[in-house]
Amino acid sequence: MRALQMVDTKTQYGHIKEEVDQAVLEVMNSSAFINGPAVRDFATQLAEYLSVKHVIPCANGTDALQIALMALDLQPGDEVITPSFTYIATTEVIALLHLKPVFVEVDPRHFCMDPVALEKAITPKTKAIVPVHLYGQASPMQEILSIAARHGIAVVEDNAQAIGCDYTFSNGEKKKTGTMGAIGCTSFYPSKNLGAFGDGGALFTNDDLLAARIQMIANHGQSKRYYHDVVGCNSRLDSIQAAILSIKLRRLDQYNRSRKEVADFYDRAFADCASLLTPLRSSFSTHVFHQYTLRVTDGSRDDLATFLASRQVPCMIYYPVPGHRQKMFDAFQTSATDLPVTDLLTEQVISLPIHTELDQEQLAFISNAVLDFFKRGA
Ligand SMILES: *Cc1c(COP(=O)(O)O)cnc(C)c1O
Repeated sequence: MRALQMVDTKTQYGHIKEEVDQAVLEVMNSSAFINGPAVRDFATQLAEYLSVKHVIPCANGTDALQIALMALDLQPGDEVITPSFTYIATTEVIALLHLKPVFVEVDPRHFCMDPVALEKAITPKTKAIVPVHLYGQASPMQEILSIAARHGIAVVEDNAQAIGCDYTFSNGEKKKTGTMGAIGCTSFYPSKNLGAFGDGGALFTNDDLLAARIQMIANHGQSKRYYHDVVGCNSRLDSIQAAILSIKLRRLDQYNRSRKEVADFYDRAFADCASLLTPLRSSFSTHVFHQYTLRVTDGSRDDLATFLASRQVPCMIYYPVPGHRQKMFDAFQTSATDLPVTDLLTEQVISLPIHTELDQEQLAFISNAVLDFFKRGA
């Protein structure tokens, strides 16, 4: 059996090696490393895939989130509502820009922002809402968008984990995650569903003015060469990554289907295990399974992790420390409220290997190890 890994980018590369190597050599021969045709082509292809008007590539997902908030022209101390149960990048950029992160609860069933908690957290100082489509499934966007619209607040979607996911509105209309709010952000970090061979990120918007602002901010606030109108940053996707991403974008739906097959296998394997909650498939969203995350409800999560390690089965805790308990935010006045659901989830969640290259033998090995643990305990 091939060694088990959380993500197997090497085997995946093996299937597309000729095409990738060729594309990389072409960029090297062209020497258009920055802002070359490969970057423009990839942005066009991604915009078409997402049915969004503008895709602005940048250096990584964290930059994308930072640039999105910069584009909204917020003032120091303005409040930005976001889940505490997310990767640190989402919340860190809020603090970095001297804005105030206001942490709200997630729904324990789908792990994404709870719209009821969101509505309660809104104050006159709330200027942005950043829902995170965690683990590959959409946040309840219809509720979030309608609350935001009622209060005149911008929505920035953190779509780093859910590229390719479809959201369905109650009228049947479907949209890709990342294209519903004012701005969507994504990451092309190698382990993401659409991963580069290095860092990368992008912003999406249907708003022409915002697109122009984002473009300008990502390029030193420059309106025309050597004329800098606003304080910006330097955040670019390089051509080699763009060329590779174009090749992988053509396979994204297939990659996401492979991930779903893995999830279906695990769901079946764990269906009768009383101590495990398998991930809910929301009625309003497809699931692209960036992570396959179980809840261990009998208090044995850490023992399970130790047991799996003894069987050479990798697993991860996403995330062991929620935003509202990070030292980073000690100096910030964040949210006054307790977040018991978030705290509970950080004690219960465990993520198993999920990627495009898992075979039946590996899946059986992983799921048997999990089931053996609960048999032993019984
Ligand atoms: C990966 C990730 C990011 C950051 O992306 P980078 O490219 O690593 O900067 C932001 N938010 C979430 C939810 C992520 O998973």
